[in-house]
This record gives sequence, structure tokens and C-alpha cells, in this order.
Amino acid sequence: MKQKKIPLSLQIFLALGLGIAVGMAFTGNPTFAVSYIKPFGTIFLNLLKFVVVPIVFFSILSGIISMSDIRKVGSIGVKTLVYYTCTTAGAIVLAMFLANLFKGFFTVIDPTGVTFEPGETASFMDTLVDIFPSNIIAPFANASMLQVIVAALLFGFGILAAGEKGRPAAALVDSLTEVCMKVMDIILRLSPIGVFCLILPVVAENGPQILGNLGLVLLCAYIGYFLHAVIVYSATVKALGGVSPLAFFKGMFPAMAMAFSSASSVGTLPLNLECTERLGARRDIASFVLPLGATINMDGTAIYQGVCAVFIATCYGVDLTLGQMITIVLTATLASIGTAGVPGSGVVMLTMVLESVNLPVAGIGLVIGVDRIFDMGRTTVNITGDAACALVVSNLEKKAEARRAARRPRA
Ligand code: ASP
Repeated sequence: MKQKKIPLSLQIFLALGLGIAVGMAFTGNPTFAVSYIKPFGTIFLNLLKFVVVPIVFFSILSGIISMSDIRKVGSIGVKTLVYYTCTTAGAIVLAMFLANLFKGFFTVIDPTGVTFEPGETASFMDTLVDIFPSNIIAPFANASMLQVIVAALLFGFGILAAGEKGRPAAALVDSLTEVCMKVMDIILRLSPIGVFCLILPVVAENGPQILGNLGLVLLCAYIGYFLHAVIVYSATVKALGGVSPLAFFKGMFPAMAMAFSSASSVGTLPLNLECTERLGARRDIASFVLPLGATINMDGTAIYQGVCAVFIATCYGVDLTLGQMITIVLTATLASIGTAGVPGSGVVMLTMVLESVNLPVAGIGLVIGVDRIFDMGRTTVNITGDAACALVVSNLEKKAEARRAARRPRA
């Protein structure tokens, strides 16, 4: 008799639940979990990061080759950027609204003596210059997603421009893309173990007592994450992506669980690619939109920055004016673009938001202790937003192609 296989999404769900339950048992004594279980989670994340760079490079390359039209790449790029910017701005407006509602209930913490050493934040021009690689190895060695995208675009256009002589290169790219996908499949089969080993030490180390005074600030951020995902992503995937919200969230569950346990958008990319493709996104579009999103589209991070800025202001006794709130909306949108898709990077960019309204950067010390808990939720929202965009752009492109085909004169 053939054995029925448990679907991967259910396996991940069970692993997440089990990891949280066992993690609870370890609270107060996390040494074993941190020394012997966490390393396996790290191995899994390393494997994902290992496969993600070739996947992104070859998928974008083969996407461009199959599009065989440079203008199409431009139109996909514009749609993606418009979607990303609008949803991020919406996310931070929602965060400001919620934070102001909750403000009166936050437990005010005395900030005297609280410190935070701000890391280096790159200027806008430096970030712009950094997108363009100065040698062929660096983007791959540093896993710098924007540089990998630029390299893939350049080689893709090069292969198209080479015409007949570019054909063997195109065939090689096609074959290597398939090989990378198979490698990714093998690694993704380990997801349940990976999710279990990633979430368990986090729960063991951060047990419920850590929430303390920040419980309401966390609740406010999580309500923001939840509302943004349910309202904005449901509406856009339904109206523009041609997918029902229920099917969307069900299909996205494995990637969302992975993002929640790893707090890394980049690490979640392989699983996100698989989920969005299964939901009907075109591979050439998803492999362009998702890595770009994992680097620049951070709706969850924007929500976190808005909520924390209001909380920190409250602790310092500062009543933010409407003008300051608008400044926060603008800077948090930019700051989230500059946030890297790795654990904890949203904190670094929070310094930029606080500085924009003259709030003391040391205030970050008030929220840093529970950053991992903020991070798990914001990363889940970040990658869900990327996936929604991939579905929306795929569907809009499909419609545009159908219109173009209808306009073409018949032979
Ligand atoms: N961890 C988040 C991500 O990977 C970034 C952040 O820290 O806000 O998407």
C-alpha cells in the first residue's frame, strides 16, 4: 500500500508548533537549546543563503532571455516599484494611526541611563553607488542581492544582444537554472527541521517574562502587521492578482512560518519563490520581484519603526506634531528600503527615523531587548508583501500581454 505523504506546509506547521512548545519547556534554562539545537538552525539558514544567490542570478537571467524584450523588463520594474512604495507608505501610515491610539496605554519607561550604540548608516548616494558591482565576484561572494540583480540584468541583455552567438549561453543558463531549482528542492525538504531548530532557541531564550513592560508596544506592532497583511495584501491579490485571499495565505504559509522562525527575508527567498510560483506567479517575474523585495520592500519593518518611534517619543515625554509624524512616514519609507533582509537590520535603520525628528537614538535601548520578537513578525509581513507583489505583477503582465496579442493584426 502506498503511504500518504504529509504535505510540506503541514510538516512546517507542526514543526513550528512543536518548536514553540519544546522551547517553552526550555525557558529559564536555554543553554542546551542554544548550544546544541540553534547550530542546526544556523546550518539550515546557511544552506538557504548558499542556494539563494545562484537561484536569483540564473532565474533573472533566464527570465530576461525568455522575455526577449528589454521594454518588458522596464514595465515589470516600474509596476514592482510602484506597488512596493505605495504599500510601504500605507503600512507606516497605519502604524502611526495605531501607535497614536495605543499611546495612552503604553507603560512609560524612564529612559535615564538607557544607551544604544548606533551602527553606521550609509547615505543615500553611497547606497546608490553600492548597487553597481565593481567586479564580477563581489556580488556573489557578499550575497549582495541588488548587485546580483544588476549583474543578472547586464548579462541577460548581453546574451540577447549577442543574437545567434548568445544561443549556447542561453541554453547553459536554462540548464543551470533547472539544476539550481533541484538543489533548492533538496534543501527545502529540510524546512521542517530547520524551522524547529530556529524557533526553539528563540522561545527558550526569550520566554514570556521578557515581554514585561513592552507587551503593549509589541501588541500594537503585531496588530499593525496583522491588519496590514489582511487588509492590504488580501485586497491587492484579490483585485489585481486574481487570487483569493484565503488561497493566498494558505499557499504562503510555509514561507511565512520560515520567515517567522528565521527573521530573515533573504533566507526565506527560496521558499517564497516556491510558494508564489505554486500560487500562479510567473517564474521569470517572481525571480525578479522577490529578490528585489527581499532587499527593498519592508512593510513590516516600516510598521515596527513607526510604532517604536511613537513609543520612544512617549518615554521621552515628547508629543509628536503632525509635521513630525509626516516626517516619520517619509523617513520610515526610505529607511525600510535601506534595511537589509537579515535579522535585526531594522533596528539600525530606526536610528535614521529617530534622528529625522530629533529623538534621542539612545531610546532604541528601550526596545532592543525584545527586537527578535518584533523582527519575527515584521519579517513575516515583509516577505508576504513581496509575494503579493509578484502575484499582482504577474497577473497585470498576463493581461497586458493578452491585450497586445489582441491588438496584433492576424496574418
Ligand atoms: N529581519 C528583517 C527581514 O529580514 C529586516 C528587519 O530587521 O527589519 O526582512
